[in-house]
Amino acid sequence: MRTWKWMFTAALLVSVSAAAQQVAESQPSAQPDAAAATPAASSPATADTTAPATAQTTDAVAAPSSPAASTPVASTPAASNPVASTSASAAEPQAAQAQAPASTAPAPTVSTLPQPTTMDQVVDRFIEREHALMKALGTRTPVVETYLQDLTADPQLGPVPSGDHYFLGRIDMGVSVDRKDYLKEQNTGMETRLLGGFHKLYKVQYEPTGFSWMVYADRTEFDRAHYEFHYIRREFLGDVRCLVFDVTPKKNSGRGRFLGRIWVEDQEYNIVRLNGTYAPAPRNSYFFHMDSWRLNLIPGYWVPSYIYSEEGDFSAGVKNKLAFKAQTRIWGYDLKKGDKDDELTQIRVDSVKDESPTAQDASPLQAEREWQQQAEDNVIERLTRAGLLAPEGDVDHILQTVVNNLEVTNNIDLPRPVRTRVLLTAPLETFSVGNTIVISRGLIDVLPDEASLAAVLSHELAHIVLGHNLGSKYAFNDRMLFSDDSTYSNLGFKHIPEEEAAADKKAIELLNNSPYAQKLDNVGLFLKSLQAHTTQLNALLTTHLGNPLAENGTLSRLSALSTKGPALDNNKLDQVAALPLGGRIKVNPWDDKAEMVKTAPVAITSARDKMPFEVTPFYPRLGRYGAATPSTTPATAANSNPGN
Ligand SMILES: [Zn+2]
Repeated sequence: MRTWKWMFTAALLVSVSAAAQQVAESQPSAQPDAAAATPAASSPATADTTAPATAQTTDAVAAPSSPAASTPVASTPAASNPVASTSASAAEPQAAQAQAPASTAPAPTVSTLPQPTTMDQVVDRFIEREHALMKALGTRTPVVETYLQDLTADPQLGPVPSGDHYFLGRIDMGVSVDRKDYLKEQNTGMETRLLGGFHKLYKVQYEPTGFSWMVYADRTEFDRAHYEFHYIRREFLGDVRCLVFDVTPKKNSGRGRFLGRIWVEDQEYNIVRLNGTYAPAPRNSYFFHMDSWRLNLIPGYWVPSYIYSEEGDFSAGVKNKLAFKAQTRIWGYDLKKGDKDDELTQIRVDSVKDESPTAQDASPLQAEREWQQQAEDNVIERLTRAGLLAPEGDVDHILQTVVNNLEVTNNIDLPRPVRTRVLLTAPLETFSVGNTIVISRGLIDVLPDEASLAAVLSHELAHIVLGHNLGSKYAFNDRMLFSDDSTYSNLGFKHIPEEEAAADKKAIELLNNSPYAQKLDNVGLFLKSLQAHTTQLNALLTTHLGNPLAENGTLSRLSALSTKGPALDNNKLDQVAALPLGGRIKVNPWDDKAEMVKTAPVAITSARDKMPFEVTPFYPRLGRYGAATPSTTPATAANSNPGN
C-alpha cells in the first residue's frame, strides 16, 4: 500500500548531491586542465591506461576503417603472428567447469603454481592470470558505452566541452574483438563513422572499438618475449594492496604495444588497473591515453569496468589538434546470450494460478488495463534483457518516494501503483510505458537536487495521469522478438507535440501543489544550464527511446520553469545548476544493479570545479569480492577523495 504521506528523500539524496556537487580538492588529475592531460602529470593517483583507441587524421583514409582493423594489432607488424598466439592461448589448461554458486560467473581457476616468492614469479603469475581472464570472459558480450566530449579552452572555465559523441554497443570479449552497435549510424560504412570535428586540413575519426580495446593490455602477446616488466613499489588502491609495475615493449616487438603501468593485487595477482597508451603508433594515427579499471565482481576475477581517456594540451604555445575526454563503461557481463539451449534451462513454472481475489470476468475497462500492463511488462523485461535497464533496486525506492510525494499532495489515486526503473545509459532522457517511469542514469547524475528530480519525473507522471499511454502494441509478443542491437529501432516511446505540451502543463500543476513548490528556483537554474549547453552537448541530449529534453538548440521540456530562479553565474561557487556525469549512480557491471554513490563532501573552490554535464576521470574505490566495502564504487575523480 502506498504511504499517504509525503516525505523528502532528503536524507539520502541531498547528502549525495552535496557530495557530488563538490570536486576533489588538490587533485590535479581530477581537473580537466592541460596539466592533467600530459603524461608528466600522471601522479601515482592518475593512471592512464592502455587504450588502443585511435584517432586518425584525414590522410588516414588509407588506414583501416573497420572496427576490427582499428585495433593496434591489425595495423602493426606485431600482428604478423596472431594465429600462433591465438592457438597458444587455446592450448592453456582448461578452467574448472564448476559453476560459481548462485551465479553464472566463471568458476575461479586455481593456479597450479606455488605462491610467488620473487618478483619474477609475480610477473609469471599475473601474465598467467591475464590469460585466464581473457579465457573466462571469452564467451561474454557485455554492453559497452563510450561518451566523449571534445574540448576547447575557455579563459574562465578552462577546457570545456565544445561537442560530443556517443557510442553504444555490445562487445564480444572473444579473441577476435567485435562489436555491434545499438545506434544505427554506426552500423553503416566508414563515412558515417567519420565523427568528430572538421578542421581546414584534417578531420579526426574516433573509432568506437578503440575505446574498449583497452580492457586488456595486449590481447595476443602479453608475455616476457614482448615486454619488459619493472617492479616499482607497493601501493593501496582503495582497500586493495597492489604491486605496481611499469610495462615497456621490447625492441622490435612491433607497433601498437602496451606502454604504461599496471597495478596487480597481492593475493591472486590479477591486474586491477592499467594506465598508459600503445606505442609506437602507426603513421597518421594516434593511440589515446587511457586509465582502465577492473572490479572484483566475481570470485577470482577482476572484470574490466571503466576506462577513462583524455587527450589535449592547453598550455601556452601549443597548437592543439586533438582534445577530448571520454568515459567508457562496460556492463551486462551476465546478460543471457539468448541461445536456444540457454532458453531451455530457463523454463520454470513458478506460479500458474490466477491470484485474483474472486473469480470474476474482466470488464472492458479491466481488459484494457490488463492489456496495457502486459505491454508494459513485455517492454520492461525486454529492455532489461538487452542490458539497457537496471533490475529493480534501491535507486527505484528513492524515485518512487519522489513520485509518491507528487501523487499524495495532488490526491492522485491510480488503479495501479506507478513504478520506476533506471535506464543504464548516459544520454539525458525519460519516458514512460504503461505505469512505469524510466529515467536514465545520466539524467539522475546531473540533476542538482530532489526538486529537479521531481520536475523531470512529474512530466512522466503527468503523461500517466492524463492517460497518454504509449506502447500497447507491445502486448503482442512477436514485437519483442528482435536482436538486442536493434532495440532502438524496434521500441520507441515518443509522444506527439500536443501530448508533450499537455504533460508539461500538468507537470507544473503537480509541482505547484507539491512539497517541491518552494524549490522551483533550483529547477529553473538546472533548465537554464541545460539550455546553455544544448548546442555543445547534442549527443548527450539526443534521446533514443523518449522525447528529448532539448531539441535544435532549444529547451523543449518544462521550458515554462526555466524563467524561475536567478541568472546563471559561474562565479558564484554556491550556485550549482547541474552536476558532472557519474556523481550519483553506480552500476554493477556484472549484474547491472544500480545503486546510489556514497561520497564525502568536497568543497568547490573555483568555477572550474563545477563541471556541469562533464565527464571526469574514474576513481573507483577498489575492494575484494565479498568484502564488507562495496567493490563497485565507480565514484569519479570529481567526488573521490584521494587523501583516503
Ligand atoms: Zn513527454
